[in-house]
Order: sequence, then C-alpha cells, then structure tokens
Amino acid sequence: MTRYETVIGLEVHAQLKTRSKIFCSCSTQFGAEPNENVCPVCSGMPGVLPVLNRKVVEYAAKMGLAIDSHINMKSVFARKNYFYPDLPKGYQTSQFELPICEFGHVDIVTAKGPKRVGVTRIHMEEDAGKNIHSVQDNASYVDLNRSCVPLIEIVSEPDMRNAEEAVAYLKALRSILVYLDICDGNMEEGSFRCDANVSVRPFGQEAFGTRAELKNLNSFKHVQKAIDYEVERQIDLVEDGEKVVQETRLYDAAKGTTHSMRGKEEAHDYRYFPCPDLVPLVLEQAWLDQWRAELPELPKARGQRFAAQYGLSVDDAVLLTAERDLAEYFEAAVGAYGEPKKIANWIMTDILRELNQTGGRAADLKLSPQSLATLVRLVEEGSISAKSGKDILPELLATGDDPEALVKAKGLVQISDTSALEADVDAVLAENPKELADFRAGKTKLMGFFVGQIMRRTKGQANPAVVNQLLAEKLK
Ligand code: ADP
Ligand code: ZN
Ligand code: MG
Repeated sequence: MTRYETVIGLEVHAQLKTRSKIFCSCSTQFGAEPNENVCPVCSGMPGVLPVLNRKVVEYAAKMGLAIDSHINMKSVFARKNYFYPDLPKGYQTSQFELPICEFGHVDIVTAKGPKRVGVTRIHMEEDAGKNIHSVQDNASYVDLNRSCVPLIEIVSEPDMRNAEEAVAYLKALRSILVYLDICDGNMEEGSFRCDANVSVRPFGQEAFGTRAELKNLNSFKHVQKAIDYEVERQIDLVEDGEKVVQETRLYDAAKGTTHSMRGKEEAHDYRYFPCPDLVPLVLEQAWLDQWRAELPELPKARGQRFAAQYGLSVDDAVLLTAERDLAEYFEAAVGAYGEPKKIANWIMTDILRELNQTGGRAADLKLSPQSLATLVRLVEEGSISAKSGKDILPELLATGDDPEALVKAKGLVQISDTSALEADVDAVLAENPKELADFRAGKTKLMGFFVGQIMRRTKGQANPAVVNQLLAEKLK
C-alpha cells in the first residue's frame, strides 16, 4: 500500500474545426504546401489588424455549455509575450484574466465509481507555426500554415488521482468535442493535445506537492505511461529525502521515461496584457440561447437513451456511445434490421476488435451498418450458421461486399426448410439400418453419427438445428 496520493490537473488544447483561422480568412486546411495558407495577419506583419472569427466564439461557448460552464458575457483577449521563430508577432493572442468560460465539470467513471472533474476555464487562442529542422540542408525552416489556427484551451482542476482517471477525463472531453463537431479529436495529428501536471503528497496532507508539467503526450497510452512513470519518480525522490522541483518535463515514448526540459528559472514570464487590437468580446443573450438550442445529444444523454430505448445494460450503452461514429453506426444498423441487442453484441465483439486492431474509426469501416444488419439477419433467420457469419466477417470488413452476395458465392446458405431436409433424413436412416437398430436398442450416442451423415449428404448446408429437430421426431 503506497503512502502517497497522486494529484493530476490537465491542460488540453483542442484545435477547432473552422474553415478559416481565428483572426484572418486564411484556410485551416491540413496538409497544404508550407506557407500556402498565410497572409499579412497570420505572418505577423506590422500595421495589420486581427478580426475575430465568429465561429470560434460559437464553438468555444458551445463547449462551455456542454460541460455546464459559466459563460462570461464579456471576455478579453490578452497577449502572451515570448520569442520563438514560429511566432512572428512575438506574442500569442490568448485569453488570460477573463476567459470565455469558467467553472465547468466533466463526469467520468472510475474504479471507485462515478466522479466529477472540475474544469477551471476554457479560453480561446491562436496556434503557433511550425519549425522544420533539416539535417540534410543544414537549415531550419518556418511553416506558418498553422499560425493563427483556432484553439481552445481547457484547464482542469487538480481533481484526478491516478493515470486511469486522467485518461478517462481526456476520453470524455474528446468525446464531447467530437459530438459537438467542433474538433476532430485526432491526437496523433495534434488536433487534441494534452499537458499533464502531476504531483504527489503523503496521504492525509492537505497541501499539494510540487508539480511537474509533462509534455509530448500524443496518445492516451502515452498519457497513462508518462503519468505512471512520473509518479514513481516523484515518490522515489521524496522517499530519498530529496525535493521535487517545479519544471516542465518531456515524455520520451521510446524509453517510457520523462526528462527535464526547462526548470522554473527558465520559465517564461509572459507579461500578459490585454490586447489593444481587439475590443473586449461581448456576447448577446440571443446568441447563447441559439447555441444552447443547437447543442446535439451529448454522450451522457445518448448513453442513457440507448439503455432505455434499446434495453441495453448501462455498461454496454456507455461503450456504444463513447465514440459518436460508433453510436451512429449502431443506430443505423438497428434502423436497418431492429434486434438492438444482437446488433450490439456483434459491434461490441467483432467490430470493436477490428477497430482496436486497425486503430480506425467506425465511420471509416468499409462494411456499412446496413450490411452488418444484413449479416446479423442472415444468421438470426438461420440462412447461414453463426459460425459462417463469423467466418466471413473479416472478408466483409476488408471488402465491404454485400453479405447476401458473398454468402451465395461461397455456397454458405443453409437449408432450413423442413420438407427439403426430410428426404435427406429419411435417406440416411434407410441407408444405415444397423446403426438405426443400435440406436433403438439404446445407443443414443449415434445421434451424432446421423447428424454427421446428413451434413455430409447436404455438403454442410443443412441447418443443424433443423436436422436435430427432424431426427428427434423420426427417432421417437
Ligand atoms: P500554468 O499555466 O502555469 O501551467 P495553471 O495554474 O494554469 O498554471 O495550472 C495548470 C494546471 O495544473 C491546472 O490543470 C491545475 O489543475 C494543475 N495543477 C496546479 N497545481 C497542481 C499540483 N500541485 N499538482 C497537480 N496539478 C496541479
Ligand atoms: Zn492569414
Ligand atoms: Mg501549464
């Protein structure tokens, strides 16, 4: 039993899915040629003025509403001053003292039950550009395509107590952002990024320990591993009578360790001040009312609805609604066939296994939800055996072919028609008088033999359940 308690607070940067940047009309398109999407505003030329993108305000406020934040009717943009080559203005336009949202919360499920994580604030800001260092050219380049791309930063309270809770919180946040359709949630591509602040304290101590801030966490797995490593490191330090120093540490995914990037002494003094180029942002109540009315059904509500409407367990409903894509896939399949529990079972086993293996998303599956529904129906109606259904699923997932056509092409259709099978049953019994006599004399194990013979005669296409039923009647 460890004598220390872990304390974690997370800072999340979510890139917003707007078409244009936050303060100019340049495109936010990912994958453009370097410096293709750049203008005097986002390249920091003197004498130009920023114009706030209305969609960014809408998206930030919608996220605030979705997590029950207080929305500040007046918020203020501030300059965060620092020098770096990817920041041509010499400051990042952000929000500081008066952010757009404060005091929200996100509900998660932990090993100890449900838990509410406080969200201190959400503010709007611009992203920086990207430095590209080329060993080959012995040169460094700056790509400003990402400069001025809109972000929201979501800062949590230090409410999490272990890495699992931190990951659960991140997944819940990401899920809400994707449901709102304001962020694509892609961690590898950096549209959903996270810094983890981690400290430890002896159990029972009220004051927080000194924290380290972990950076470079670009998957949920890295978040988990980096926090676990960092907690061990800090406990070791404290146990050895040393002190944890406040610093920024980088996670090394290859080694699974963290190392110091910069200490407190090198920490920036950002000299925040209100941005004189942007007037304070004042919202109108009518906008808020409209944005609230436009909120979609969110993961929690959808989970509750799935449980009630489809008779699923709460755990299954939560699993099926965590990803918006998957929830929509499920509902489309149920819409095509019904049988929600059967569909849910196929999705939670075979489809989720496929998605976990490929790292893909439900929306990218080649097998359409309608085709999955067809496959489930073929099995449920006895047109094919459950085993055949499972056997052809990998091929269907790979090709997206029509299940009915594939079943025909492979000759997997089962014969379930009693009258058609009766002749085969009669024939097998007539051809095996000795076994029939033995059976009647009490050797009931021969049932299996007869079933086998009928399956052979029908080239495996007889529905075993129907065969068994027919035999039972004939052998009474
Ligand atoms: P900064 O911007 O300098 O990193 P903030 O005050 O905005 O500082 O805090 C950043 C994050 O650190 C917040 O999510 C907060 O909950 C978390 N945090 C603050 N103190 C601690 C601590 N002692 N241990 C763990 N997390 C902490
Ligand atoms: Zn621009
Ligand atoms: Mg920080």
